[in-house]
Amino acid sequence: MDGNVSDRQAVSPEVAIESVLSRQKVAYLGDINPPAALRRDRLDRLERMILAWQDRLAAAISEDFGNRSAVVTTLADIVPTRAAIRHARRHLKGWMRPRRVSLAWTGQPGSGQILRQPLGVVGIIAPWNYPMNLMLSPLVGALAAGNRAMLKPSELTPRFSEVLDAAVKEFFVEDEVAVITGGPEVAAAFSAAPFDHLVFTGSTAVGRRVAEAAARNLTPVTLELGGKSPAIIDASADLDSAVPRLIWGKLLNSGQTCVAPDYALVPRDRVEAFVAAARAAAQKQYPSLAGNPDYTSIISPRHFDRLAGLIDEARGKGAEVIELVPGTDAVRRILAPVIVTGANDTMALMREEIFGPILPVIPYDTLDEALSFVNARGRPLALYWFGSDRSAEGRVLNGTISGGVTINDTILHLAQDNLPFGGVGASGYGQYHGEAGFVALSKEKPVLRQSRLSAVALLYPPYGKIAGMLLKVLARFG
Ligand code: NAD
Repeated sequence: MDGNVSDRQAVSPEVAIESVLSRQKVAYLGDINPPAALRRDRLDRLERMILAWQDRLAAAISEDFGNRSAVVTTLADIVPTRAAIRHARRHLKGWMRPRRVSLAWTGQPGSGQILRQPLGVVGIIAPWNYPMNLMLSPLVGALAAGNRAMLKPSELTPRFSEVLDAAVKEFFVEDEVAVITGGPEVAAAFSAAPFDHLVFTGSTAVGRRVAEAAARNLTPVTLELGGKSPAIIDASADLDSAVPRLIWGKLLNSGQTCVAPDYALVPRDRVEAFVAAARAAAQKQYPSLAGNPDYTSIISPRHFDRLAGLIDEARGKGAEVIELVPGTDAVRRILAPVIVTGANDTMALMREEIFGPILPVIPYDTLDEALSFVNARGRPLALYWFGSDRSAEGRVLNGTISGGVTINDTILHLAQDNLPFGGVGASGYGQYHGEAGFVALSKEKPVLRQSRLSAVALLYPPYGKIAGMLLKVLARFG
């Protein structure tokens, strides 16, 4: 049987998933700790797979979206995934090496070390927005750490899922890596399967359900969720450089980016200049929307209607909606980028993650007021600050908590393999990328190797003089 549940009407998703999982578990037990050479071979195959299939994968993603530029897919899916593979290959031996640790007196004169061991079979559930990167980057960590993996792409990217399945089958045997396709019911069955670890990337609401399902198996979960990531423009910011960077991060993939700036906090006396600069930046990056291959369509009619609804509700409640580049086209699911001023918490766009090209601009008078605004909401996945005043920068870094931060730009902290990536609170828990991904998908097993002598043996009963003396020493130094 292959891993494609939707092709297998005869068996339930649970049975089909269980069957691939049990074969992967048997294979794992036959090779519990694969050597570096095999892990490197798997990483090499993953890279060769991407190189061989990248055009077909990018074309499938564009079809799933309606339109998405191959440049966006190359920049945000292919390049970071290949960089993650190269980074893992370069550091693999160092990451795998046992760590020596010093011991308390109870371990003397023995030695202590931490072994990093594969967990077994890792399940990876990815969303639709960067379907390759968000599936294959966790896979890099899983393979580097010596695991096997099952992948569940989103039902909103059916063509991509099909192509990924074919690509994986060409380069991996099913008990190493397998793709499971199908709808939300398959995803629900997937999250209930007894994996050794689950990596889920998606919305907070579904993430909660995944964590509940995994808890029944005591399967540990890395939850990579979303949220409302603020961009704070400081009084000291240079708008000419800050605003194009903010607009780039907001409009990349038409705002359908987990770390996109969700809303901007702008000093009250700079709002007008900010809006003018935002319009200029958006028009420079996307001179028009009609037939523009660089501007991504909204993934589905449901998401298009949701976003249009956010704008309508805000307008209906008195907010001003300022179009940055005209050209909304419901048939092609092109949504013109807008700034919303006068938004407030009675509007859904200030309560939910926007995940589209709508930027509420919230004026503030003091930095404390801006920080309170951020801290009154769920902990965001990303926070952006623009400015040159180092003391204000310090206050922002120390006075807020978020998954990650880029200062004087957007998005880019996510693309650094030496920086761990993950949310906090409402934006998720656990982290990956680089060594953090390797560690997350390994068991760090502590080992104490006792010597022929043992300090604790001096305290075996019957307790005599030596025990008394030792206890005095321990009372002072222990
Ligand atoms: P989603 O939560 O709707 O779907 C994510 C995945 O969950 C899909 O593969 C889907 O098939 C699966 N799924 C659906 N129902 C399920 C269930 N009952 N049990 C288990 N799995 C189920 O999210 P989405 O719309 O695909 O993606 C958008 C969200 O993802 C946004 O909130 C965004 O911020 C977030 N996101 C986070 C990151 C990150 O790295 N933290 C990256 C990208 C997107």
